[in-house]
Amino acid sequence: MPVPTARSPFRPELARMKAYTPGEQPSGGELIKLNTNENPFPPPPEAVQAIVQAASGPLNRYPNPMAQPFRIAAAEVLGLPGPEWILAGNGSDELLTILVRAMVGEGQRLRLPHPSYILYRTLADIQGAVWEEVPFLPDWSLPPEFWQGDESLRLVLLPNPNSPSGTMIDPSVIETMAAGLDCPLVVDEAYVDFAETNCLDLVRRNERILVTRTLSKSYGLAGLRFGYLVAQPHVIAELAKIKDSYNCDSIAIAAATAAIRSVDWLADTRATLIATRERMSLRLTRLGFDVTPSSANFVWCRHPRGDHRSMYEACKAGGYLIRFMEYPRYGDGLRISVGTDAQVDACLDLLEKWLDRP
Ligand SMILES: *Cc1c(COP(=O)(O)O)cnc(C)c1O
Repeated sequence: MPVPTARSPFRPELARMKAYTPGEQPSGGELIKLNTNENPFPPPPEAVQAIVQAASGPLNRYPNPMAQPFRIAAAEVLGLPGPEWILAGNGSDELLTILVRAMVGEGQRLRLPHPSYILYRTLADIQGAVWEEVPFLPDWSLPPEFWQGDESLRLVLLPNPNSPSGTMIDPSVIETMAAGLDCPLVVDEAYVDFAETNCLDLVRRNERILVTRTLSKSYGLAGLRFGYLVAQPHVIAELAKIKDSYNCDSIAIAAATAAIRSVDWLADTRATLIATRERMSLRLTRLGFDVTPSSANFVWCRHPRGDHRSMYEACKAGGYLIRFMEYPRYGDGLRISVGTDAQVDACLDLLEKWLDRP
């Protein structure tokens, strides 16, 4: 007879799963953060103004349940037919949670590429669903099996640009390939403002293609928590059934509405960060790194000498936090977020010093 153990109040899925660990968020201000792809610049001034205004507004009242002011502004700025194509969320992570809850049941399958954004696995685990990873090919394209569906495959998630690689699958390839799937394909465009193309047009042509975006990276609003999803209106209506009634607060709605309208601010910030990214990639290459060409606000690089962990530690000791990433069956490397020119120069000086040591 097995010895009876104390009965856990938690669902067995929980006991089996590992907690998702976000990147380090040190509390003191002494480390410069180049580890979680935040914007080194503050958000658009109009967004900050909107926060101040909203803070003296009617906070005793509930916010608009669908974040309607944001939807109206975003539909206009993005050239979408109307606000009913947009669902706002408390960060794009919440929208991913809503998607997985809405579409993937217990024992059903969800697919993601590898190496990629592993939060998707956590979301599948919570559902008691099964996740499967399809490895990227060496040129960071995806093999045909990524695009082959069957009945138990309920959802495919593709970060584009991908993390940690910063690489991008062309929308024309996505459109052709998505035809082979009979489940929805979510294109996670967290970094798309730093790329040359995006998949919004595909959403208008294909009800099974959905796009998620965030204000955390390109708009410098990671601390606010706001993201949005673009899909055909009947898809948005279904997903809205799952969200919390008031998933975005009044202050976040006001700030996000002002931010999405800050078109010139975004263009300037984007240009600055892309210029720094290119300079950074060039210098890393000169230091002997194998640098993956990036369409995002970070760079993935590996050095033939390996020992990326020591490089990460040397940077941290010098006051700069970068990301050491290690993946089964793929290996490890460094993901460095694009900071200001001065931050990037100082961090790369530390790497150079480490490489130069006897
Ligand atoms: C940062 C990130 C997100 C999360 O964005 P939030 O809006 O801050 O929740 C989603 N997907 C990918 C690939 C990311 O890197």
